[in-house]
Amino acid sequence: MWRSATQAFVLLHRSMSMSTALPPSPIPLLTSVASYRQWRQKAFDERKSVGFVPTMGALHDGHLSLVQKSLAENDLTVLSIFVNPAQFAPHEDLATYPRTLPRDLELLTAQQESLCRYFFRRSKTCIHQALARIFRHRRDAFVEMKGYGHQMEGASRPTFFRGVATVVTKLFNAVQPTNAYFGQKDIQQALLLRRLCKDLLFPHPEADHVHIVPTTRNPNDGLALSSRNAYLSVNERKFAPTLFKALQYAESAWSNGESKDRCVSGAVAVIDKVKTQAALDGVEVRLDYIEMNDSETFDVLDASSNTQLAGDIPVILSGALWVGKTRLIDNIVVGDLNRV
Ligand code: AMP
Repeated sequence: MWRSATQAFVLLHRSMSMSTALPPSPIPLLTSVASYRQWRQKAFDERKSVGFVPTMGALHDGHLSLVQKSLAENDLTVLSIFVNPAQFAPHEDLATYPRTLPRDLELLTAQQESLCRYFFRRSKTCIHQALARIFRHRRDAFVEMKGYGHQMEGASRPTFFRGVATVVTKLFNAVQPTNAYFGQKDIQQALLLRRLCKDLLFPHPEADHVHIVPTTRNPNDGLALSSRNAYLSVNERKFAPTLFKALQYAESAWSNGESKDRCVSGAVAVIDKVKTQAALDGVEVRLDYIEMNDSETFDVLDASSNTQLAGDIPVILSGALWVGKTRLIDNIVVGDLNRV
C-alpha cells in the first residue's frame, strides 16, 4: 500500500455521515487526524513530498486541474473536501452549497485509478469539530489578514477571508504539505494565503510553495468552472459568461493604453448591454463590482492609471456578477503572478 509512487487522500466534510453511500473505490479510509499524522510522518521519514489541494467538494475539471498538477509535482497528494462554514456569512448559501461526495470520489478514482490511495473520514479528534465550534459560537482563535481582506471580494463579503485564512491555517497545520495548490479563479484568496505563509513563516508549505493554477473555463464560451454554476437555470446559464466578456473588454482596453477608469466603465457598459437583453428573457443580471487592483496591496488602481504608470506589478481585473440568485466571480491577471 505504501509502495505506490503517488497517492491521494480525501478529507471529508463533517456533515457527511459515516453511512453516506459511496461508490467502490481503491481509496482506503483513514479515520482520524492521528492516523493522518502517522501517514504524514512516514512521508517525512521517506523524504516524500506531499501536495495538497483544499476544496469544498462538488468537484469539476477546475479542481481536477489542481489535482493533476499536484500529482505531477509531488510523490503524494492530499485532497480535502470541507464546506467551510466559517467563510459563509449568515445570509449566504452554506445550507444549499452543492454536496456531491459519491460523485467526487468517482471522479478522483476515475482519473487516478492507481494513484488514489487514501481516504480520510472525520472522527472525534478531527479538525471539523473545531471548525463547527467557530461557526456556532463565533469565538475561537481566528486568523485575520489585516489590510488585505477588505478589498475586492472582501468588500462584498467582509468576514470571508477571515474564515478562509483560519480554516486553511488549520488545514495546513493538519496536513503539513510540501506544496499547496490554489486556483487563479479565486485569485485574492490564493495571493492572500501565499502572503499568510510568508508573514507567519509557515514551514508547511513555505510561501513560495503556494502555487496558483490557471482558471479552467468552458471551452465554448469562457465561463469559469465553478461548483456554484450548478445553481444556474438553462436560461440563466446563457448570460453567465457576461462577466468574463466584460473583463476581456477591460483587458484589451488596458493593453491599448486606456486609463483604468475607461477600462472599468467600458466593462460595465458590456454588462449593462447584456443586462437589458437578459431582462427581456426573464433573467436578472446585476453587477456587484468590477475593479482593477494592485496584486501586491489589493488597492484599487488610481482612476488615471494606465499600463505604463502601473509598471511591473501584475494588475488584477476582477468582478462579481449576480445572475438570478447565483453570484459568480471571475478575474484576469495582467502580468506575471510569480512576481507577487
Ligand atoms: P472551491 O471548492 O470552490 O473552494 O475551490 C477549491 C480550489 O479549486 C480553490 O483553490 C479554487 O480556486 C480552485 N478552483 C475552483 N474553480 C476553479 C477553476 N475553474 N479553475 C481552476 N481552479 C479552480
